[in-house]
Amino acid sequence: MIRSDDLHADIGEILLTEEAIRTRTAELGAQVAADYAGRALTLVSVLKGSLPFMADLMREIPLPLRIDLMEVSSYGGTATESSGLVRIIKDLSASIAGEDVLLVEDIIDTGLTLNYLVRYLRGKSPASLRICTLLDKPARRLVDLPVDYVGFEIPDQFVVGYGLDYGERYRNLRFVGVLRPEVYAPPAE
Ligand code: 5GP
Repeated sequence: MIRSDDLHADIGEILLTEEAIRTRTAELGAQVAADYAGRALTLVSVLKGSLPFMADLMREIPLPLRIDLMEVSSYGGTATESSGLVRIIKDLSASIAGEDVLLVEDIIDTGLTLNYLVRYLRGKSPASLRICTLLDKPARRLVDLPVDYVGFEIPDQFVVGYGLDYGERYRNLRFVGVLRPEVYAPPAE
């Protein structure tokens, strides 16, 4: 695998600039704030990929909200394909019973991970449960779930940056981009 120390050099195309993400996040935050005014809002996000989006989105919602974090890992898949088999590494730290929960996701691809999380969170008796995702890849959906807030619909490409990784790298890029093909596979001999 060829990977340089320069993270930017591994990116073939920038799909969403820092500016585009900031503008859209502010719009989503305003929409969420209008919808949840006067309610008991808890934002639940899923580490590690959603970390930058959660941090930026919550600061665009001027309501007295709570946050909680889960961490899950999917197993049985590959570096670029999810399997839908999910293991909880970090659970919620407080009860969400009676709370209006907004699940904050980085990306919905097949929907298998989200499907698992929605069932899990519903079992905790929230007053309501809605979904907000920065990125949506509808072309690959296997489980159809209503997604209430979508930042951007993107084509069926594996993306990195702004929280999203390939082999745990690239999460700290400020934009969302597509890796150069050479990063996945070394050139043929
Ligand atoms: P799903 O279960 O919806 O297929 O996949 C959800 C998870 O797979 C995401 O939370 C993310 O961790 C990973 N994933 C799906 N598509 C991408 C992608 O294009 N880039 C990266 N880096 N991860 C992805």
